[in-house]
Amino acid sequence: MAYRLVIDLAQWQQQEFVLSLEQAHYLQRVLRLQVGDRFVALDGRGAARMAQLTPTGARLLEALAIATELPIAVQLLVALPKGSGFEDIVRCCTELGVTALQPIISDRTLLKPSANRHQRWQKIAQEAAEQCERAIVPHIGLPDDFLAVLAALKPSSAARYICVARHNAPHLLAVLEPGQDATIATGPEGGWSEREIQGAIAVGFQPVTLGRRILRAITAPIAALTLVAAVAEKS
Ligand code: SAM
Repeated sequence: MAYRLVIDLAQWQQQEFVLSLEQAHYLQRVLRLQVGDRFVALDGRGAARMAQLTPTGARLLEALAIATELPIAVQLLVALPKGSGFEDIVRCCTELGVTALQPIISDRTLLKPSANRHQRWQKIAQEAAEQCERAIVPHIGLPDDFLAVLAALKPSSAARYICVARHNAPHLLAVLEPGQDATIATGPEGGWSEREIQGAIAVGFQPVTLGRRILRAITAPIAALTLVAAVAEKS
């Protein structure tokens, strides 16, 4: 198994590039790679190349085909859970194949994230993508109000679902269409407010259940994505 490293766009555009201090530390000190050793360099957007350590940095070699992505795009709109729970969501959902994650500040969100949180989430996504051998690093949006995010959604062919606990709604598994992109919203510990549910329905979101038990705000997006990934990959 070759080690994987997402590199910067500026590095990707050169045949030979200088390693950042962090990259040099990871490759040479943590992984103990020597000059001449190889690793897989990723641009984080789907492209991969074999790379080789040189005395001054690294050299990009042949292109590699990586086939670990889901066949559909899945965007999750996730109300921020309390504490550091969103970090677990970023890590697990990256492993499960999410395309993009939008942190939501909802009417009942308890956490008001500090500015440096976003950088940390994007780094967690990068490390998880490297570890699970993905070609794409999911995009993590800046936290935003749910209704503002709904208003900014671009028209697309993606099916839209809002996960609601304690409602008489069809199961997500029963309504998923294989091969169709999906946008899925999950709420905070206190649940969505009625105006948020109605706002989502107004822009085409279908209310769905994830089963009879009440899942934690951390569990719900992971459960929803697991179902979507299973349906997308089963054929
Ligand atoms: N007390 C809240 C309520 O009654 O809505 C429970 C919220 S739950 C802890 C957090 C979020 O996870 C919900 O807003 C919903 O999006 C999702 N969720 C949890 N269990 C669910 C289920 N069985 N079906 C659908 N969504 C669920």
